[in-house]
Amino acid sequence: MLIEEEVKKVDVLVIGAGLIGCAVAYGLSRSGFRVALVDKHEIGSGASSANFGRIQIQDSEPGEMLDLIMRSASMFPSLVRDLGIDVEYERSPALLVAESDAEWDALREMQEIKRRQGLDVRFVNKNELYALEPYLDLRHVAGATLSPDEARLNPLLYTRALARRSREMGALILENSPVIGFDVSQGRLRGAHISRGGMDIEIRCGAAVICAGAWSMSIGAMVGLEIPVKFVIGEALVTEPVPRLIWNYFSLASFFETAHSGERAVSACCVQTEAGNLLLGEASQVKTGRELPALESLKGGNLHFAVTAVSRDMSRFFPVMGRTSVIRMWRTFAPFTDDYRPVLGASGKVEGLFVCSGFKSTVVVTPVVGELVRDLITKGQRSIPSGITHQPLNL
Ligand SMILES: Cc1cc2nc3c(=O)[nH]c(=O)nc-3n(C[C@H](O)[C@H](O)[C@H](O)COP(=O)(O)OP(=O)(O)OC[C@H]3O[C@@H](n4cnc5c(N)ncnc54)[C@H](O)[C@@H]3O)c2cc1C
Repeated sequence: MLIEEEVKKVDVLVIGAGLIGCAVAYGLSRSGFRVALVDKHEIGSGASSANFGRIQIQDSEPGEMLDLIMRSASMFPSLVRDLGIDVEYERSPALLVAESDAEWDALREMQEIKRRQGLDVRFVNKNELYALEPYLDLRHVAGATLSPDEARLNPLLYTRALARRSREMGALILENSPVIGFDVSQGRLRGAHISRGGMDIEIRCGAAVICAGAWSMSIGAMVGLEIPVKFVIGEALVTEPVPRLIWNYFSLASFFETAHSGERAVSACCVQTEAGNLLLGEASQVKTGRELPALESLKGGNLHFAVTAVSRDMSRFFPVMGRTSVIRMWRTFAPFTDDYRPVLGASGKVEGLFVCSGFKSTVVVTPVVGELVRDLITKGQRSIPSGITHQPLNL
């Protein structure tokens, strides 16, 4: 497709067409902005095609972030209706499981705070847990909380549907068109350069938003911005279809801490699809933003660790899973920040440049993230509650 003259100038250039970039493009298009959404590869080719599609609520941080997440989660029914295609959105309750008494005390205390904030989260004793998950080996569990209102969707269908709907509202979407540089004069962003079919093309824009997940740091570096988004290589497995073994989404209360803790880590999480396949996660390996994540590097390599470690960890909780066969595994680069709060802000160095990246739970914020970015662009940093951004935010 040729880029026509009139689309070389847009109000907002959104960089990265994952869940965040597509949701930002959708939200801004709905608000009447003329948007261009560009990706280095295809829509959803990063972490957004490689996750479980969980709309996670109960592991949010309390306070302003939880308020935002509860509001965002409640917006899904009308959003998916507007998308006009089936993105497999459905209710899917979630268990958060503590392994030790100390972990259980901490989990109860934290969830009690969220309950007082209005979240429907229930404490589940061992008898109730047995009724909910009869195959769970209760010897490894000190207690659990149940979030009955959580949901899931198909992340790739959803990401593409957001992009498609944005296009219907007038957004220009350019795949296989990486941003390779910015045009800045007198401290103000004038545009960005993309590489398309071997050509260097400039898109002039009033504002640009870096929504490039694990690649945000490397894009920020093009204009001397240090974006504090790190990333893990996350690995997950899928088994052959088996009769129902698990009824709720299962994850450990220590999941986020473990997954982002070090060189090689495993933290159990699992859900069973309608077709019977078990999705098992997650092995992870922390990287720093300075190491450029190249998709090609995900191919091959040592798969042994993830397959054996994840299977072993899950079989500890569900021994019956030890007899299932893994049929596929995948790897992806998933962004995170040290305080689990996103980098959501305006650059103080380059006027007109914004960052929206590194959410702890990404799918759940997609209904509201376009609104946040719109306010950031039109009203400035003060429109964003400090409790929902990474601190210190020094872009
Ligand atoms: C196994 C696993 C399971 C998970 N499950 C869940 C879950 O159930 N729920 C949940 O909320 N989260 C989950 N996550 C995390 C989630 O996948 C990520 O947080 C989320 O996908 C990040 O979305 P994003 O849009 O920020 O980044 P990405 O989807 O990675 O998108 C970034 C995009 O930027 C593009 N890009 C890179 N460089 C450039 C450039 N120079 N120019 C233009 N574009 C560029 C990339 O090609 C990519 O498409 C899971 C993660 C893993 C590893």
